[in-house]
Amino acid sequence: MIHSLDLPKQYSMIQDEIDRAISSVIRDSAFIKGKYVQSFEEHFASYQNADYCVSVGNGTDGLEIAIESLGIVDSDIIVPANSFVAAAEAVIRTGNQIVFCDCDPNNYTISIEDVKRRISPQTKAIIAVHLYGHSCDMDPLLSVAEEYGLKIIEDCAQAHGSEYKGQKVGTLGAAGIFSFFPGKNLGAYGDGGAITTNDKELAVKCRMLANHGRLNKYDHQIVGRNSRLDGLQAAILDVKLKYLEDWTTTRKELATYYHKHLEHCEQVILPKQEAWTRHVYHLFVIRTLNRDHLQQYLKRNQVQTGIHYPIALPKLPPYQYTEQSEEPMIANQIDQTFLSLPIGEHLSFSQLDTVISLIDQFLQNVSN
Ligand SMILES: *Cc1c(COP(=O)(O)O)cnc(C)c1O
Repeated sequence: MIHSLDLPKQYSMIQDEIDRAISSVIRDSAFIKGKYVQSFEEHFASYQNADYCVSVGNGTDGLEIAIESLGIVDSDIIVPANSFVAAAEAVIRTGNQIVFCDCDPNNYTISIEDVKRRISPQTKAIIAVHLYGHSCDMDPLLSVAEEYGLKIIEDCAQAHGSEYKGQKVGTLGAAGIFSFFPGKNLGAYGDGGAITTNDKELAVKCRMLANHGRLNKYDHQIVGRNSRLDGLQAAILDVKLKYLEDWTTTRKELATYYHKHLEHCEQVILPKQEAWTRHVYHLFVIRTLNRDHLQQYLKRNQVQTGIHYPIALPKLPPYQYTEQSEEPMIANQIDQTFLSLPIGEHLSFSQLDTVISLIDQFLQNVSN
């Protein structure tokens, strides 16, 4: 079986270190806050080149806390239609309204042209999702934001280590949100997330919001909530962070290999990597008209694939009220064609050869 994700194998590669880290946290009973959380926050801030890192319970909470910390309420927030659902949830849960926006047809991140069309006097923010590990085109996005006085929140849940023009994502806008869901490029053994920013005041506000509105015990200054990364997850992440660059290098090499060996397939559209980005290939997403058949064929031949995402957000039941599913957006059309091929540090080039030759065989059969 060729897996999309192989966490047991990853664990076996670093088992001793992980086991020791877990034991230390238990021995110290440093479950909530404490030195392991602080250490990971420092290391992750330094990895992302951010002045501040505030860890939280998960990426979705991070988005909510970031929106709230910016004081945005009763406003329109622009959210990409082609993405994971979390940004849409965070907009609604903070008392704001969603305006969906189309994606770029080549790199699938938010379309700057469409953002411009959707700005109104109610608009206060844009959620820029660095989708699949590919950064958004931040310079034009930032200048639009400046022109209209909008905040940019970067959703970096799929983009640990990704860069825009040589600068790490997560500090280009007002705040960056990371997820440490187990399957992300940097994943915990449970839920986890973080907010990065270079704005000290914003970092303090986020820290308070995520910890019952306080900085010190019983000093509750604002209405907060409980959303914290726990000590066990922090210690595990601190171990895994040391391997992230190596694992990212492997992902990039595998992506290059796919590109080289699938380039000749006319029925397959390969993911475009723009010159401005350091793509970290959280996902390797191709497009093909025979998506469902190809996926079944690969499955029958022991190759796991995924679809990111099968239904554009405006078409999902909770968001149909926006009536944006009827709009002729690219995002509303191409969800039928996405297929995520296996990629990750667990794979070898010979396994990719198998995937590639299966795709070749399938396409030959289709065209005959
Ligand atoms: C995973 C993900 C999230 C949510 O992160 P959680 O930690 O699962 O809450 C948000 N946005 C994107 C783009 C994601 O892929």
